[in-house]
Amino acid sequence: MQFSTLFSGSSGNALYIETEQGSLLVDAGLSGIKIERALKSIGRSVDKLGAIMVTHEHRDHTCGVGVLSRRFNLPIYATENTWEAMECSIGKIAGINAMCIGSDERLIVGDLHIDVFSTSHDAADPCSFVFSQGEERLGLLTDTGCLTERMGQFLTGCRTLIIESNHDRDMLIDGPYPWHLKERIRGKKGHLSNDDASDALRRFATTDTSQVVLAHLSAENNLPQLALNNAANVLLDMGLKDAKLSLAPRYQPLPLAQVG
Ligand SMILES: [Zn+2]
Ligand SMILES: [Zn+2]
Repeated sequence: MQFSTLFSGSSGNALYIETEQGSLLVDAGLSGIKIERALKSIGRSVDKLGAIMVTHEHRDHTCGVGVLSRRFNLPIYATENTWEAMECSIGKIAGINAMCIGSDERLIVGDLHIDVFSTSHDAADPCSFVFSQGEERLGLLTDTGCLTERMGQFLTGCRTLIIESNHDRDMLIDGPYPWHLKERIRGKKGHLSNDDASDALRRFATTDTSQVVLAHLSAENNLPQLALNNAANVLLDMGLKDAKLSLAPRYQPLPLAQVG
């Protein structure tokens, strides 16, 4: 299994995953054209995609979902309440491509097993996913304000962990955002801070974890080096200094990498 974060952050998110048998996107939070170009830049093509999995209805995750589904006849997988919440913004979707999933469900799409689990975010019914193929497991966790025991059941020991490291708590508090937005971001239904990301690594990373990607960084309330240093220290503390640590760039794809 290989993956690439095509875009990451409040300006748009998309994660590309492929196996020998097929490929899919998790979220498509930029225009269809931009996603097409990003895939091309890593030597891949939109017309080979088999599905789009949607975590929640926010526009930084769904902006290109409708267009891509209509142009390339792609099935979209989302929870029932997410469907309801995004229906008017993504436009008309062919009935055959509207797939409803439930939290805690295990799906099989092509040769991939996909575990769906709930996240804690200010959206209708947000969720995230663990993708597995044999021993290889990739866990994605962004757009959540807190960590839960239940997440641990899915994410613990994934070979690749893509974890949100949205903001530095002090930078957020001292930064330019209005108070209500600061409260929203750092709330239980907001986003994970660098410290929360450290907590997530302590809980979910194991000696099976060979790769960690920090994602959904805020441009205003974080610094890449701060997020990286934080996570590197935790991995070192845990005796996981050989785990590869990287940061999902905001506007360009991370080179295709093996899940591990
Ligand atoms: Zn987001
Ligand atoms: Zn969101």
